[in-house]
Amino acid sequence: MNPIVPPATVGILGGGQLGRMLALEAKRMGYRVAVLDPTPGSPAGQVADDEVIAAYGDLEAVRRLGEISDVVTYEFENVDVRSVELLERAGVRIRPGSHALRITQHRLREKRFLVEHGLPVADFVAIERAADVDDAARRFGFPGVIKTAVGGYDGKGQAVVHDAAQAAAAFERLAGHQLVWERFVPFVAELGIICARSESGAMVTYPVTRNIHEENILAFSVAPAGLPEAVRARAREIAVRIAVGLDFVGTFCVEFFLLADGELLVNEIAPRPHNSGHYTFDACHLSQFDAQLRAVCDLPLPQPRLTSTAVMVNILGTGVGDDLFGIPELLADPGVVLHLYGKKHAAARRKMGHFTILREPGFDAERLLEAAREARARLSWGTRVPA
Ligand code: AMP
Repeated sequence: MNPIVPPATVGILGGGQLGRMLALEAKRMGYRVAVLDPTPGSPAGQVADDEVIAAYGDLEAVRRLGEISDVVTYEFENVDVRSVELLERAGVRIRPGSHALRITQHRLREKRFLVEHGLPVADFVAIERAADVDDAARRFGFPGVIKTAVGGYDGKGQAVVHDAAQAAAAFERLAGHQLVWERFVPFVAELGIICARSESGAMVTYPVTRNIHEENILAFSVAPAGLPEAVRARAREIAVRIAVGLDFVGTFCVEFFLLADGELLVNEIAPRPHNSGHYTFDACHLSQFDAQLRAVCDLPLPQPRLTSTAVMVNILGTGVGDDLFGIPELLADPGVVLHLYGKKHAAARRKMGHFTILREPGFDAERLLEAAREARARLSWGTRVPA
């Protein structure tokens, strides 16, 4: 495939923060950017040249995005697969393709893909009827995790169940969705790896991060993760096998559970840049978004270098106001780089931005995590009183 070079137009399905960061990298490189999102002035729309305002599933609008773009990608996996197929049929370069999307947007398909490729996942079974819940409980025991196959994120659409009554209640609450029961994994840590693969098959992996969640939402990502080389090598190996198995083009993330014996289980594949890779913006010479751009435009894809020890900290809304206080105090640390996503309303648990705290390579990551927690405590939400 021919490389797509600036000032060509990159189309993005979805206008959230991942699209915004991709758009910022694309603008830096001199590309034009077009974004499709239902809301005018979306985080990505604010930095794009063109906005197509329409529902993600509006096939006419998707076609229009394809017409004005030289290459199209997407920033979240709940894109309607028909939109991607439509662009493929119309001869638009859309990456990653519908094959990778169809598998990774559906937990059951994804898990079956992993099993077929000999890759490790937690034991699971599909749940359709109430009787399946009892069977799963008998087979795997409690606790178990019931998840929707489609559409869940940040802990939405899932429940940890400790007994038959909780399992029945969760089944009832989630009824109407395709469901999966997973064995509860007694992990010692959660890890993530970002990988990018270009149209020509060039592939790179980023350093493994340790991801710390609070209430099922990512709170901190620590790089480097401070793991034995054998664990890091296994994470890379799994990521590469997934990339090849999906014939993936773009940037993706694999999230893992690390077990006490050093084994890894794949939790999820995200077919796009990922929150746990935001540290790459400031702590690598090539960000995950730069890699995505190069991958889908078929440009050279160099192995990224970690240039700092880094902790990425999410800034979540709390629902008590839309003004962020403490920014000057946060930035008093010379290692802090701030990213805000331009979202107006700081609803509780909404991802409003993040910051990365950087120290020289070799700096103790655990100490940096402590500094990151202290830095986060300087921020708070409220309402500014007009002067
Ligand atoms: P997910 O949406 O599947 O990424 O799940 C969100 C979070 O819930 C994960 O990051 C874990 O902290 C936790 N979790 C999900 N599945 C399991 C499992 N099978 N066992 C233990 N914890 C889980």
